[in-house]
Amino acid sequence: MSLDEFREETRAWLEENCPTSMRTPMPQDEYPGGGRRMQYKNPDTKIWMDRMAEKGFTVPIWPREYGGAGLNSNEARVLREEMSRIHARTPLVGMGLSMIGPALLEYGNEEQKAEHLPKIARGEIWWCQGYSEPNSGSDLASLQTKAIVDGDDYIINGQKIWTSGADNADWIFCLVRTDFEAPKHNGITFILFDMTSPGVSVKPIKLISGLSPFCETFFNDVRVPRKNVVSNVNEGWTVAKRLLQYERTMIGGGGGGGPRTQSLAEIADKYIGKQDGKLSDRNLREEITQHSMDDRAFGLTVQRNQEESQSTKAPSFVSSMFKMYGTEQNKTRYELMLKSMGSQMLGWEGEGFGSSELTQTRAWLRTKANSIEGGTTEVQLNIIAKRVLGLPD
Ligand SMILES: Cc1cc2nc3c(=O)[nH]c(=O)nc-3n(C[C@H](O)[C@H](O)[C@H](O)COP(=O)(O)OP(=O)(O)OC[C@H]3O[C@@H](n4cnc5c(N)ncnc54)[C@H](O)[C@@H]3O)c2cc1C
Repeated sequence: MSLDEFREETRAWLEENCPTSMRTPMPQDEYPGGGRRMQYKNPDTKIWMDRMAEKGFTVPIWPREYGGAGLNSNEARVLREEMSRIHARTPLVGMGLSMIGPALLEYGNEEQKAEHLPKIARGEIWWCQGYSEPNSGSDLASLQTKAIVDGDDYIINGQKIWTSGADNADWIFCLVRTDFEAPKHNGITFILFDMTSPGVSVKPIKLISGLSPFCETFFNDVRVPRKNVVSNVNEGWTVAKRLLQYERTMIGGGGGGGPRTQSLAEIADKYIGKQDGKLSDRNLREEITQHSMDDRAFGLTVQRNQEESQSTKAPSFVSSMFKMYGTEQNKTRYELMLKSMGSQMLGWEGEGFGSSELTQTRAWLRTKANSIEGGTTEVQLNIIAKRVLGLPD
């Protein structure tokens, strides 16, 4: 099928299958994370997720056998464009799709892929990430959570921190130390386990916003089958690094990002208004135009990078550039939104604000974490200097 035919067919399918309420900005409490415990406030969220999963469009570039649609990167781009055209929401989000799924496709054995990937594609399991520890953040390889062999199992003891969504998660992908004598990068193992395993406990960390998006996660003699190790024992750092590249690509929008339900220009037009067919605030008009051009150039750079890495299909250290640039673009986007909406984007609760306005306030504050999560901007600059530009240590 030609790309034009694919576009036509996809457009018709989306028109027919995307519920009207899924063509509006997504409020925080309708976040389609999936998982065993997910409550769907809006039933259309689940309908949309199921329809897209059935079509393989929750993970469009994954092979069909694992729940994907087997699309190439051009077809996936067309799908994103067509979703943006009708302001369709992303049907499913989370660490399953964007992080552990791609890592398993590359490093998992057949049994692990067959068990986990289709469930991720259908949004049945919510995954969380057990990387950071109280004394291991940027220097992640210094982690101390330990795993000791006992028959066919490992016994895991230790603590993780900042585990996003751990209180709702079904499974965790976790870094543990299996060799305390080896140099720190060589004694780490990447392992998967069910969060309902005896000995796992989770304590949400309450933020000033009243929300608890992340948790402290404790492991007390947690028994995990040895077959849940991904790749080889003591070689988990290789998998961990690759997963971070997927994470950074996702955070920076280097995977193409999700479709945007509203453009900056549309928001500014709505709140500020037009004069002579143009946004009346000239300075803001220029800033929004510059941002749109930068967005476009970034999108094309991402596309070029994807085309160049078609053979490996995996990200590389370049993901650090995407993370750094993409997160700055996202922060600027929300600052421009704030300039457009003024005090309407500073509401927290109560009358006088629409639900999408209250959502934007929280989303704006959330962007502040973009340059910390998944490795800070300073750490990305170190990686770019050493691994991309080849500068001396
Ligand atoms: C919203 C959010 C969600 C998160 N979710 C998860 C999750 O689900 N799972 C998980 O495991 N972790 C998660 N994290 C944790 C995140 O990965 C860490 O916060 C991050 O890696 C930084 O580690 P740290 O907080 O310990 O800061 P530190 O490592 O203590 O860094 C403190 C400061 O020192 C700077 N710094 C440190 N080392 C260097 C260096 N070598 N050169 C220059 N500057 C340096 C840093 O840039 C930073 O400004 C999340 C964080 C956030 C904000």
